[in-house]
Amino acid sequence: MDKILELKDISKKYQSKKGEILAIDNINMRVKEGEFVSIIGPSGCGKSTLLSIISGLEEKTTGEIYIEGEKIEGISAKIGYMLQKDCLLEWRTIWSNVVLGLELKGKINEENKNYVENLLKKYNLYDFKDKYPSELSGGMRQRAALIRTLAVRPKILLLDEAFSALDYQTRIMVTNDIYNILRKEGITAIIVTHDISEAISMSDRVAVLTKRPGTIKDIHKIDFEMENRNPINCRENPKFSKYFNTLWKELGVDE
Ligand code: ADP
Ligand code: MG
Repeated sequence: MDKILELKDISKKYQSKKGEILAIDNINMRVKEGEFVSIIGPSGCGKSTLLSIISGLEEKTTGEIYIEGEKIEGISAKIGYMLQKDCLLEWRTIWSNVVLGLELKGKINEENKNYVENLLKKYNLYDFKDKYPSELSGGMRQRAALIRTLAVRPKILLLDEAFSALDYQTRIMVTNDIYNILRKEGITAIIVTHDISEAISMSDRVAVLTKRPGTIKDIHKIDFEMENRNPINCRENPKFSKYFNTLWKELGVDE
């Protein structure tokens, strides 16, 4: 696998009334194409800051970001972003929600419309295309939000606590659902979560950040050595609790 994303020496200082706050420091990371990497760390350690910097929505103080070897400044079309709220527009149908990104980019054409239509069919939302978001379950809404993001064909998807608003049962199902879709579409994912189990169940590697200023303390490789791995079946693997204990201890040291 080729590396798709490289972060070099990223730091971020915020200016506030009380002075400067160094949110993250000395972040170096390489992510391979198709890889899922989770980022965990204490609350306020700079996880969201790091994702907004990668997305280009927030400026970095130092460092460089490369996507497919190309240095990027600001927002890149190769990156998609998913937040905790699905941000579907209630007054628009599912169809006009999922094509919103294309619309904003002036990229509504036959080819792209076919692509979105196929995503809706493939992931069982096509029959709901004329419905409104309020008529869908939480899980289906999240899937619609994902298809809206995929419609503009990003290579890397950033997820910031994307499932934390859902209740436990739904979260497990949605996580599994989104995981399978992203794997099928060959998307690279960077997942920020405060949930150790979610991080293990979804990732090839888990990066642990220190408390603020967030720096990378350690990166753990997660390998269940099983075919057709998914977030649900790997929770039953004996290795799961081993990974959990390791990460739990590592996070605990800072508290
Ligand atoms: P996390 O997502 O890990 O909980 P954040 O990235 O949201 O952490 O925040 C990291 C630190 O930076 C926190 O101390 C937060 O208060 C501070 N911070 C975040 N955004 C801003 C901002 N716009 N201005 C000043 N400080 C900020
Ligand atoms: Mg956050």
